[in-house]
Amino acid sequence: MQEIHVEKTASRGIAVAAIYKYLQPDLSPNPAAICENQILEEQKRFEDAREEVIRELEVLAAENEIFAAHLEIAGDFTLHEGVEAKISAERKNAELALQEMIDEFAAIFEAMDDAYMKERGADIKDIGKRLMAKLKGVTLPDLGNLKEETIVAAKDLYPSDTVKLSPELVKGILTEEGGVTSHVSIIAKSMNIPTLVGVKGILSKLEDGMMVCMDAEKGVIVTDPDQETLERYQAKKEAYDQERVRLKKLRNQPAVTKEGKRIFLCANVGNVEEIKKALEMKIDGVGLFRSELLYMENTHFPTEEEQYQVYKEAATLCPEELTIRTLDIGGDKALPYFEFEKEENPFLGWRAIRISLDKKEMFREQLRAILRASAFGHVRIMFPMIISLEELREAKTLVEECKKELAAQDIAYDEAIELGMMMETPASVLLAEEFAKEADFFSIGTNDLTQYLLAVDRGNKKIADRYDYFHPAVLKAIAHIIRAGHAQGIKVGMCGEMAGDVKATEKLVEMGLDEFSMSAGSIDYVRAAIAGALSSVL
Ligand code: PEP
Ligand code: MG
Repeated sequence: MQEIHVEKTASRGIAVAAIYKYLQPDLSPNPAAICENQILEEQKRFEDAREEVIRELEVLAAENEIFAAHLEIAGDFTLHEGVEAKISAERKNAELALQEMIDEFAAIFEAMDDAYMKERGADIKDIGKRLMAKLKGVTLPDLGNLKEETIVAAKDLYPSDTVKLSPELVKGILTEEGGVTSHVSIIAKSMNIPTLVGVKGILSKLEDGMMVCMDAEKGVIVTDPDQETLERYQAKKEAYDQERVRLKKLRNQPAVTKEGKRIFLCANVGNVEEIKKALEMKIDGVGLFRSELLYMENTHFPTEEEQYQVYKEAATLCPEELTIRTLDIGGDKALPYFEFEKEENPFLGWRAIRISLDKKEMFREQLRAILRASAFGHVRIMFPMIISLEELREAKTLVEECKKELAAQDIAYDEAIELGMMMETPASVLLAEEFAKEADFFSIGTNDLTQYLLAVDRGNKKIADRYDYFHPAVLKAIAHIIRAGHAQGIKVGMCGEMAGDVKATEKLVEMGLDEFSMSAGSIDYVRAAIAGALSSVL
């Protein structure tokens, strides 16, 4: 018996089952260079593998949209051309050329801070794996063949593996690689499978069929447990599962504090699919629709019509409240079709509202699209990274101009659309009283607010222990924003990560926060924490 402690939980829960080691065949490329007369042969080898993979994916694409996305990547001209060029110009064999192209492609996406875009990196690696297996003539294992309840242990799981996961059989997941925002973490969370990722060296400590207890609440793995430990974990798991059922039942009631205050529980989303998932949690609305994903996934600036179609679908799905944040690009978020000049300090640079106000035509297209969608539900517009009243006023004036244009064209929109702002810069905190007189609502972005108030880069692992939204300066800023907003009678919400942290819930309720907006997976827990009904099992 051995007890292993892991720092971060990817998907909560408790599991007790036998291990299945999901091992991949050796797919490392052959490093040998080729000579000139082998170029055509290697290019043909790659082409044949690609065609075979495309044929396989065409069948799978009908079953699952992940495979449809993979089909698109496999057919991507840049990948194809890049591999062929490496074979001809650099004399790399097909496997090595493929590996390098996949690494280069995936690295671009993985460097992004945004969880959704990071996931695209996993898809690229996944398709690389499939192509490589074809080139090497090896068969990949299949998680769809599991017959018994197991805890799956793997180096990492790819999107094509996770679609095969059956939550009835897979009771837990342990991976050596991946972070809490990696693909496997996101999928495991959506399937409610307890998961711990980044557990270095775990495969060498496990054997197929070995019993394992895992507590993905506290980050504990017990390998080969004795009878007493096994029974203790089984009891713990039962209590936990009962608690989850109880929490699910709470979804049918609005979130109300012990003092009787009604709190709005909303979701942070990046696309329509995420809204559909969040609606299962019985949300009061969307507190943050990150519109930048629509721009990041595209090959061009999305047109007014393209955006309108998406926003309209979102507003129709969630008519209670849909808060669309205008483009928040720059910093760490790039666009594949737009070259940003290199900056010394991108987080203090040309980003978010600064770009929108500089590129007014683009901004107008977005505003018109949002306004048109506002005819279909309670849509709100939220401006990111505001530091001055002039910026807020300029943005509001543009909305007014767009409204007039639409009215002249007889196009419907919500005349009373609310225009609010993210409170995520120190300037917005210090000017909160002034902003509250001109904004219709506030939403506190603790992710950026913490980084700017404490001068601690939110993505720098070396100083991650200093990045703390419980720092007294951050708490004081939050309390100040809420007071200033309430003094003018406007609603104050929060859409930074802190809103989904149950350790913060009581404090935020005490401060008077009106709306909590978070990723869908946290909603059940925060709802219970608001009611003071979060049990110690969780
Ligand atoms: C924030 O800064 O808290 C926020 C919600 O925005 P983002 O994480 O997209 O910068
Ligand atoms: Mg932000």
